[in-house]
Amino acid sequence: MTNKKEKITFEKLREKFLAYNKEKVDVEKITKAYLFAYEKHFGVKRLTNEDYIEHPLNVAYILTGVFADMTTICAALLHDILEDCEVSEEELTEKFGPEITSLVVGVTKINKLNFTGENEAMIANHRKIIVGLSEDVRVIIIKLADRLHNMRTLWVLPEKRQKEKARETLDILIPIAHRLGMNQIKSELEDLSLRYLKPDVYYSIVETLNQTKRERDNIVKDMVNKVTSLLADHGIKNEVKGRAKSIYSIYKKLDTGRKFSDIYDLLALRVFVDTEQECYQALGILHSKYRPIPKRFKDFIAMPKTNMYQSLHTTVFGMDGNLFEIQIRTYEMDKIAEHGIASHWSYKEKGKNHSMQSTMEQKLQFFRSIIELKNTESNDEEFVDSVKKDVFKDTIYVFTPKGDVVELPNGSTPIDFAYRVHTEVGDRMVGAIVNGSIVPLDYQLKDDDIIKINVNKNSDGPNKEWINIAKTVQAKNKIKAFFNRNDKVTNIKRGEDLVAKELRKRKIAFNDFFNSENTNKILEELKCANMEELYISVGINKIPTNQLINVIMNDNETKEEIILKKAQTREVVQPVIKNDIIVKGIDDIKINIASCCKPIPGDRIVGYITKGYGITVHRMVCPNIRELDERIIDVKWNETIVKKYPTAILIDASNNDNLLLNIIAKTSNSSIVVQNINALTKGDNYLYEIVVLVEHKEDIIKFINEVMTISNVISVERIIK
Ligand code: MN
Repeated sequence: MTNKKEKITFEKLREKFLAYNKEKVDVEKITKAYLFAYEKHFGVKRLTNEDYIEHPLNVAYILTGVFADMTTICAALLHDILEDCEVSEEELTEKFGPEITSLVVGVTKINKLNFTGENEAMIANHRKIIVGLSEDVRVIIIKLADRLHNMRTLWVLPEKRQKEKARETLDILIPIAHRLGMNQIKSELEDLSLRYLKPDVYYSIVETLNQTKRERDNIVKDMVNKVTSLLADHGIKNEVKGRAKSIYSIYKKLDTGRKFSDIYDLLALRVFVDTEQECYQALGILHSKYRPIPKRFKDFIAMPKTNMYQSLHTTVFGMDGNLFEIQIRTYEMDKIAEHGIASHWSYKEKGKNHSMQSTMEQKLQFFRSIIELKNTESNDEEFVDSVKKDVFKDTIYVFTPKGDVVELPNGSTPIDFAYRVHTEVGDRMVGAIVNGSIVPLDYQLKDDDIIKINVNKNSDGPNKEWINIAKTVQAKNKIKAFFNRNDKVTNIKRGEDLVAKELRKRKIAFNDFFNSENTNKILEELKCANMEELYISVGINKIPTNQLINVIMNDNETKEEIILKKAQTREVVQPVIKNDIIVKGIDDIKINIASCCKPIPGDRIVGYITKGYGITVHRMVCPNIRELDERIIDVKWNETIVKKYPTAILIDASNNDNLLLNIIAKTSNSSIVVQNINALTKGDNYLYEIVVLVEHKEDIIKFINEVMTISNVISVERIIK
């Protein structure tokens, strides 16, 4: 453990890197990256009043703790360069090559994501970070180190921001660290999050630990000596260390209602030996001397956890009846237990770190689930929902009869287990046996359960009811997929009915419509092999009936449809901004109008400095800018310039009768121009997003009032995305 208050210098970083990588060219490149970052951040201070360079330097230093490769260390030193300094991607590529640059770009992207609140943007952001894992896991490893250093200096932020950051760390970054097996970083992040989220709980645990420290230290020291010599007497070279439990792990136990005095595994030892065989020997020797507690023994060597963790765990009665939790492992296992995926660096390969990436694919089950989810068609919300359920929630470890470990979210049933093992096993399942007894299919699996699934090759397939019983999205989707495959007949019928209904509505005779000429044209246009396929596509809502009928009845479009089409095809052109906005004290700077809130003259506005991209102008009410941010700058409209700017409004109407015609009519006696109309769907109402060009806020207010007078319009508002 490094002392967190210790001041990190480049010399220290260099030394620590040299301890595991002596390649001269690598050290030279790191020096070059440091000097470049130093120069670019020069003169800038962090909120902590340290020079900014301290931050990237610390992030890089944390990464040497997990033996990161040269590329990753360089990227860590440069990780804030694109966002905060006037450096372009091109310049970075020229100086440091595409690999380092792509890592820096990756980290910059993640840093722009916002995870607070429960909105759609956050869901999409979640997806980005998770999918990012599949591109280059080193980006996420840098992000974890970046967050760790920011959490170490979190005291500098106001309380509200501290809590937000701590929450985000706990909800998103810690589960990822856990899944990647990076326990050392995870554990420190957990303690820091707890310290800011629940300071009273945190400090009371710290205090209680301090009060009992001396006593515990003495007991542990004594036991360490006894175990060391016991194993040495049996000819096993070993090293035994007392192990401090993390504050967070104690908090978790207290949180389940246990008293401090009941947490017996406060006394914890870790035994290191050279070989796997010696792990088992050591265990046997310990058990013959100290009585083990039944059922507390776990063999994670034969059956590694899904994040690659390996060790033997046991709890024994030590001296004076004290309980000791003992972990036995080799040094190699220890490296993986502490650093997980980050113990698989390859220092020789160029380009993507293939050995690390393929270890992810082979060894981390969660990663396979993500790949699988990525390949099934799902929208952002479904995807994130399933990842959250399957990846981020508390998990249990259960076993196949052969002893393979399967990890499932808490609350999973034998159905989830069966589908996790194999789709075929799920589809043909007729029953389940857990620990030797038959259980109902809604049985909730527990840690360490051994599950045997009974299958019958002649089974008709799953029961529809299982969709409600299953816990994982994976199992639910697989059951649904089974029924989709098998519901062909129903879908054909449904498709045919829908088409017939729409034709009746438009007063077109079915047989006239589907004459052979039309039929061929439709099948060709919609890329269906035959009528059956066409009906299925309609039946599962892949092809809307309107689209089908319009292949033939093209000229029968309603006026609304024509207007909509025309408006939709028009490109939204951003106006050229140069002198339209005045920035206090700066003349020649690139200005962008924010597309989220689309400010127009008359709106109260602020500038947001996005270094490298100039200044983005937002409406003051836009939630995408946070008040506390130091990157906000005063700006105002240049009143001498008169021109039209785009802004967006949302119109909610109860029906569609002449709606668009009426809306457009309202523009005829004003200077407003409709630039783009986008129909959105929402329940029974008609919802339109309309982009208009206006000169001034007064014009849009007048226009909104006019639109409100249209009888079927329920509400009109300006949009902030
Ligand atoms: Mn940073």
